[in-house]
Amino acid sequence: MFRPLVAHIDLEALHHNQRRVRMLAPWAKRLAVVKANAYGHGMLDCARALDSDTEGFALLSLEEARSLRGLGVTKPILLLEGVFKSEDYQAVCALNLTPVIHHAEQIRMLELNPLDVPEQVFLKVDSGMHRLGFTPPQVMDAFKRLKVLKAMGRSIDVILMTHYACADEPGLAAKQMAIMAELKSGNPELNALETSYANSGAVMAGSAFGKDHVVEIGDWIRTGLMLYGASPLAGFTASDLNLKPVMHLQSQLIAVRNAPAGEGVGYGMGFVPDRDTRIGVVACGYADGYPRHAPTGTPVVVNGTRTRLLGRVSMDMLCVDLSPCPEAGVGAPVELFGRHLPVDEVATVASTIPYELMTAIAHRVPRSLVYG
Ligand SMILES: *Cc1c(COP(=O)(O)O)cnc(C)c1O
Repeated sequence: MFRPLVAHIDLEALHHNQRRVRMLAPWAKRLAVVKANAYGHGMLDCARALDSDTEGFALLSLEEARSLRGLGVTKPILLLEGVFKSEDYQAVCALNLTPVIHHAEQIRMLELNPLDVPEQVFLKVDSGMHRLGFTPPQVMDAFKRLKVLKAMGRSIDVILMTHYACADEPGLAAKQMAIMAELKSGNPELNALETSYANSGAVMAGSAFGKDHVVEIGDWIRTGLMLYGASPLAGFTASDLNLKPVMHLQSQLIAVRNAPAGEGVGYGMGFVPDRDTRIGVVACGYADGYPRHAPTGTPVVVNGTRTRLLGRVSMDMLCVDLSPCPEAGVGAPVELFGRHLPVDEVATVASTIPYELMTAIAHRVPRSLVYG
């Protein structure tokens, strides 16, 4: 017996979104970001689908990188946080990975392992986000230390990287762009390097906000969210941006009942109807990754009709109002988000972001691949 809750993964939509990346950034080398199990979509399936239409991948751990290489991926794989300990460089070289270098300690570990120097690294600059990276005055020193190291007798290929704190606000991104421009203009050696600046928001900004608000993206772009069909820009829906949702989280009604006026529904009597109300019980709860804090009123689609969540989300179930869809009985299809209900919209009502909703979908929810 299978629970009816399934995350359908539309690989045709994934391809469509990757083609959008190509259209928006025709000259860029695309690193498809597949960290966090491809934002909950299944890393191996997504990587297999994208391998013929990407210039590389980006992820976090050696284990993930090893499984991509195991799949036969030969393109560059960027480790977004670089290595965590000295021994990791051995695997980095064996698997031919590209680590980010964001901290002096990571250079020191390389200097201690002269036999395990990767051929390519991304040198990360903190241009204003104040999370990872070298501050502008530290960058030249880091660069020089990297350049004296030799990988198979050749000097390392260094790509200059930064990350925007507010890619969706071109005014704020402009400050970071100015810092990068200043750094490069003051250092011809850095100016000669390839660059990697953009995530999805930065790639989208130019087309969404107009040509006066183009955010510099660099030679290598790192797109995650838009590949999965959610909007990286506040104020724009995914369909405004011609992105198609990849994940469709679908379930069914497993019970239908009447909640009498004045009596509570669910834990804590989280909802008390003011008139007799027909409610449906959906097989999907917070242990499936649905946000427990989604309030009464969060949209849910039942039988193709938009209705609302009622009361508190339980571990394995949630309740919905069947007033707008009186015909819906046990077994009626339910969409929690996807084709008929943008994940961005559910995220907003539940006070979160699509990244968190998608990555939270639990392991116990089976993924099923579909095409179109
Ligand atoms: C996760 C991540 C990205 C992808 O960001 P999206 O907004 O999902 O496109 C890009 N760069 C870095 C450094 C990241 O950690």
